[in-house]
Amino acid sequence: MNTSQTQNVVLVQETGDPSVLRPSQAPVPPPGAHELLVKTRATGVNFIETYQRAGVYSVKLPFIPGGEACGIVEAVGDQVSEFSVGDRITTASATQTYGEFFTVPEEFAAAVPDEISDEIAAALPLQGMTAHYLTRSTFAVNPEHTVLLHAGAGGVGGIAIQLLKSIGATVITTVSIEEKKRIALNHGADHVLFYDNFAEETLEITQGKGVDVAYDSVGKTTFDQTLKTLKTRGTAVLFGGASGQVPPFDLQQLNALGSLYVTRPTLAHYTLNRPEFLWRMNELFDRILAKELTVTIDQIFPLTQASQAHEYLEGRHTRGKVLLMP
Ligand code: NDP
Repeated sequence: MNTSQTQNVVLVQETGDPSVLRPSQAPVPPPGAHELLVKTRATGVNFIETYQRAGVYSVKLPFIPGGEACGIVEAVGDQVSEFSVGDRITTASATQTYGEFFTVPEEFAAAVPDEISDEIAAALPLQGMTAHYLTRSTFAVNPEHTVLLHAGAGGVGGIAIQLLKSIGATVITTVSIEEKKRIALNHGADHVLFYDNFAEETLEITQGKGVDVAYDSVGKTTFDQTLKTLKTRGTAVLFGGASGQVPPFDLQQLNALGSLYVTRPTLAHYTLNRPEFLWRMNELFDRILAKELTVTIDQIFPLTQASQAHEYLEGRHTRGKVLLMP
């Protein structure tokens, strides 16, 4: 294709609230030697883009957000070996997916099985691989483990609960409202709590022992209490800050609360190379095809309404995945 043509995109020219996500035009980027140029079918909306848009994570301005999408390969760089024009791929490692075209290194593109829709293929990589690495690699959960996982009705939460239950672990989760309680129970959670008193209630459920691992993506409003839910030598995994980032804290607390472990992981460090990326993606595809994993598409917004999509995510309305369609 002629990559000198322009495309519709969403552009951020200054950081701020969702209104800074503005429809705009930009050149179609040419693929690098090891890259694919992909025509977008569906884009995944993720919290990381809200952190970048708001200036919590620094990104050079102006920028077109987005790392996750499914689409059709339109052109390939001259060193690309595994993909051809017309292939349908998905990824969580692209750039500028809030647009009609994006580029991605072929190393981090996965061919999508025919039976999987564009929407599911766009919804799966980021939240699915996050749930996968958290439960398989950051802390390798086994059937004897009891786990606390916050925000169980959300995107990562819903997939993580299903993966944890397939391992056989006992899952305690938190949600903010009654309707989300039903959603988390449908995902398979054993105990669903509201946030008010979750630390005490978790200790009651575990007969005072505490959980083996606690996954916290809510952050600022929960993290102190999350540490109190852990057993001696338990592990806290802080993997997001939906309520705000956790401020610096005194490491001596880890001693006082029982020689605890704390880690703050991110997906890029758990998809270091093509084998690791494909291990996670193919396991997720296999589970979907075997009907052992359900991915819920909650809302689809047109690309021009990216600001509404961010408001929806930050307003804690999500009950699954939010997508943009060009
Ligand atoms: P969700 O669909 O889970 O949405 C976030 C949920 O957090 C909300 O639905 C809400 O559920 C809960 N929440 C609690 N307090 C707040 C608040 N003050 N504002 C907004 N939401 C709040 O989103 P995702 O599944 O996309 O992401 C979940 C988390 O995982 C995010 O923090 C994200 O940054 C993180 N993440 C981390 C990755 C990593 O590798 N480290 C990769 C991917 C995601 P409720 O109303 O029930 O409380």
